[in-house]
Amino acid sequence: MNDRRGSARSPRDEEPTPWCAAASAYALHALIDTELAAFEQHLTECAACRQEVDRLRETAARLGAASATQPPAHLREKVLSEIAHTRQQPPD
Ligand SMILES: [Zn+2]
Repeated sequence: MNDRRGSARSPRDEEPTPWCAAASAYALHALIDTELAAFEQHLTECAACRQEVDRLRETAARLGAASATQPPAHLREKVLSEIAHTRQQPPD
């Protein structure tokens, strides 16, 4: 038998709960208010989810930074010039 006494516990030593599946939605701000409160309570009790949320937020930040681009310098002037002679759409 595998005896874990005396060894460091990994975060997944605890049994996952149904809330553990919501970690990615939480990290991407996709939970509604009632789910958010419940998941934040779960986070206080689940080290695995705290680690997962940290990891997912880091990845999301890296993806955002990697896909952000600087618009070409001439774009602002082109848009402002188009605005000057583009007719506004009438209301429906
Ligand atoms: Zn969890």
